[in-house]
Amino acid sequence: MHRCTRIGAYVWAAPNTAVGLLAGLAAFLLGARLSAVSHALAFSGGWLGRWVDRLPPACRFSAMTLGHVILAVNTASLAESREHELVHVGQYERWGPLFLPAYLLSSLWQVLCGRRAYWDNHFERQAFGRDRPSQSPS
Ligand SMILES: [Zn+2]
Repeated sequence: MHRCTRIGAYVWAAPNTAVGLLAGLAAFLLGARLSAVSHALAFSGGWLGRWVDRLPPACRFSAMTLGHVILAVNTASLAESREHELVHVGQYERWGPLFLPAYLLSSLWQVLCGRRAYWDNHFERQAFGRDRPSQSPS
């Protein structure tokens, strides 16, 4: 990516990155590890990660991305979800502040069509490398 385009991508995704940095700072203060993953920052582990890992299955996640910040419950989850989360980073770079509303609308649309909010979400299908809805990851 050209340097000007890269800077523009950081600026365009900055509102989401700011939220990610706040969450990451909280995780870091609670013992999370900070690392660089490609052109994003990652916070993994710590007390907050252990807490998320103990949530009921419907609320649990192994990693999530907010702008250029990846939050993972532990380093193993970060390693497993790295490529998936980097697709989301690219989505934030393209959609900027519109990403989260578009993501939520995609989930809502899937539910209204009788499909699954997460697995059939356009952005998740893209991150899992799937083209067709209703196809579970292997
Ligand atoms: Zn995802």
